[in-house]
Amino acid sequence: MNHKEVIQEVFKKISDIKDEGKLASYIPELANIDATKFGVHISTTSSLKHGLGNFQEKFSIQSISKVLSLCFAYKILGEAIWDRLGVEPSGTAFNSLVQLENDNGIPRNPFINAGAIVISDILISNLSNPKEDLLAFIRSLSGNNDINYSAKIAASEKSVGYRNIALCNFIKSFGNIKNEPTKVLDFYFDLCSLELSCEHLSDLFLFLANNGKAPHNNNQILTKSQSKRINALMQTCGFYDESGEFAFKVGLAGKSGVGGGIIAILPNQYSIAVWSPKLNEKGNSYKGMNFLENFTTLSEQSIF
Ligand code: GLN
Repeated sequence: MNHKEVIQEVFKKISDIKDEGKLASYIPELANIDATKFGVHISTTSSLKHGLGNFQEKFSIQSISKVLSLCFAYKILGEAIWDRLGVEPSGTAFNSLVQLENDNGIPRNPFINAGAIVISDILISNLSNPKEDLLAFIRSLSGNNDINYSAKIAASEKSVGYRNIALCNFIKSFGNIKNEPTKVLDFYFDLCSLELSCEHLSDLFLFLANNGKAPHNNNQILTKSQSKRINALMQTCGFYDESGEFAFKVGLAGKSGVGGGIIAILPNQYSIAVWSPKLNEKGNSYKGMNFLENFTTLSEQSIF
């Protein structure tokens, strides 16, 4: 069975299951999303592009953007970024503070909020216009200029951002944030507010299935080794304290966001984006996780 047929069959199956998730109501704007939205899009290294459902509608990608800011920081500074954060799964929730005290303000990995806040700080220290430069980098990955931050979502998250404010200040107290916390947090909230469709997302992430090279213009975004390492981090840390379960049931490198999106990569084959806004208790899309589990099962293809 080919990818297109498998997607169609699994999409039909998952459309009919009862959605047992809940919207991410802790960010007021995210509580207003139509919970019935469901979209999927695959982009393959052999140039297949196929989408179903609401795959052309933009949504808040939230923590999926942590992969993009990490790639940009990695491209600029190389291995030096690992002096400021680790590469181990945390086994804790995305917004947890508990390990930072013992770890002297060094976040376990770049995909928990603490790690993404440190990456935001690194980018601010190394760019003259961080917000504009990051957006230009992201647009260059697929050549699509119709990608933007949402001022409304960023403001909504900022209005209730107590935990992230606490995280940033706590890390600053250990000296692992170099800039003013308010500046770092504003950039972090902007980063999380990026809006993309499943179609744009899977196109844009295809470079990670293509050894770090953007397929639309053959630009080497990351080295082959860096690209492999980003995939390894997505595999081990992309779903917080559900990363093991994702590896166990799905077997792809992936990253979720509380907007209900998931991006997943099968190296040398494809990148696939799924969006369904209701989340399971770990903060990952309920239907999205189910979709990908069924997709790799039926296609009989995964990393393992
Ligand atoms: N912006 C969200 C937060 O900081 C991102 C969390 C997520 O998508 N898991 O809480």
